[in-house]
Amino acid sequence: MYDVIIIGGGPAGYLAAERLGHHGKKVLLIEKSFLGGTCLNVGCIPTKTLLNSAKLYSHALEGERFGVHCDKVFYDWKAIQAWKTEVVEKLRSGISGMLDKYKVTVKEGRAELMAPPRGSNGAKVRITGKDGMVQEAESRTVLISTGSIPAIPPLPGSAGNDKLVDSTALLSIQEVPAALTVIGGGVIGVEFASLFSALGSKVTVIEMMDEILPFMDREQAPLMRRAMKTVNFKLGCRVEHIDGGRVFYRDKVGEALKVDADLILMAAGRRPELQGWGVEQLGLDISRQGIAVDDRMRTNLTGIWAAGDVTGKSLLAHSAYRMGEVAVTDILAYLDRLEGKQPTVPTDRMRYDAVPWAVYGIPEAAGVGLTEQEAEQRGLAIKKGSLPMRISGRFAAENGFAAPGSCKVIVSAFNDRILGVHAVGSYASEFIWGAAALIEQEMRIQDVREIIFPHPTVSETIRDVVWTM
Ligand SMILES: Cc1cc2nc3c(=O)[nH]c(=O)nc-3n(C[C@H](O)[C@H](O)[C@H](O)COP(=O)(O)OP(=O)(O)OC[C@H]3O[C@@H](n4cnc5c(N)ncnc54)[C@H](O)[C@@H]3O)c2cc1C
Repeated sequence: MYDVIIIGGGPAGYLAAERLGHHGKKVLLIEKSFLGGTCLNVGCIPTKTLLNSAKLYSHALEGERFGVHCDKVFYDWKAIQAWKTEVVEKLRSGISGMLDKYKVTVKEGRAELMAPPRGSNGAKVRITGKDGMVQEAESRTVLISTGSIPAIPPLPGSAGNDKLVDSTALLSIQEVPAALTVIGGGVIGVEFASLFSALGSKVTVIEMMDEILPFMDREQAPLMRRAMKTVNFKLGCRVEHIDGGRVFYRDKVGEALKVDADLILMAAGRRPELQGWGVEQLGLDISRQGIAVDDRMRTNLTGIWAAGDVTGKSLLAHSAYRMGEVAVTDILAYLDRLEGKQPTVPTDRMRYDAVPWAVYGIPEAAGVGLTEQEAEQRGLAIKKGSLPMRISGRFAAENGFAAPGSCKVIVSAFNDRILGVHAVGSYASEFIWGAAALIEQEMRIQDVREIIFPHPTVSETIRDVVWTM
């Protein structure tokens, strides 16, 4: 009998397995595809690896401006793909090594929860291996971390259309398309648009809303969009149907339009993976978003926790890691109580107020906390400040004075607490965690003014903005 069975080996599942193993628990992790989940295999890591090559290529093309001349700049898509595969495989073997270190048993196969845990009687899980062999395993608790899958709206013309791809398929295409149409201007759409437009594809993004990246601050999203100069954005447009590589859409005033491409990326978001593992029979409370959980990642069924994208709470890898960690503390306390012991590890709670996000486009953007519009919707009195990134010596040196970039800080007018930080420009994804810490620690303007930031860094812009407030 295992202490914990974890279904799904993505960021939520594998990190929880490591942490539980570290606490000496007997853990079984079941993964039907590849360790590392969406993030490592078909998400965060392959996209960022490809984007890095595209960024290097763009920098080389504009090298003369910085005094660096290259005779012949070209890219080799096959070599870029090979590098992506090498990165993914090496990181995957790193996860495997960590799981070994913490004595986690890993089984390859599709897990199905047969019976939920009842006290110490345990849960039963059936595992169907890739070779079709079926095994069963029992445990006292279960963590569901089955992640999410692409949401494919039933668009007329999509069935059997080999020009229509999702993000997973687009990551492994053999050739860079001469023209690409992206349906959806969210993070995935914008990152792929940046990638392929930097590599020379003619890219069109069709977005239903009036602006791309709807979670971004309304002053910064247009800046990001305008900075992607070679991408053709069609805002406020509704796709009606597709035919091969042709997308038929209607604009704001109802005019019927079309665009042709070699490939169409459907980037209309992702939905929790709720099928194929027994959810139907269990009686789990499932909302429209995903599995309902409390702030300790407990489901409505005793002995079952859920973490990561499958909860639909925050579809980000770093949120999945944290949810996995929070679930672990509660599982440990539960197992202690089953054994009649006082819990030995304090139980954490999941908080969503300071979850940073990042868009790794060209340029990149990142933010945390409330946007100006969100603060207004909540009726909060705020003060705001913003500065262009070119005031940072490092930003100007590396990007030039005309490069787009901005840093905006939202502060409570009532007590000067930092409520949100939003940035467009290089390194934004690297320094945004610091802004998350300011919000988590409930820091005020004066506290930030007293922090010493390293110089020259782009992150200093936060401090400069705060000094203007
Ligand atoms: C193109 C793309 C780019 C992204 N970029 C970023 C980024 O830059 N930053 C970021 O924070 N997030 C990014 N994400 C989102 C990120 O990948 C997810 O938020 C993260 O992977 C969620 O982790 P998870 O553990 O909840 O689920 P997943 O990573 O989806 O892992 C779930 C695992 O469960 C397995 N599984 C499902 N059902 C079963 C079953 N019945 N039995 C056994 N195994 C099962 C699946 O095979 C999968 O491996 C990106 C996503 C995509 C698609």
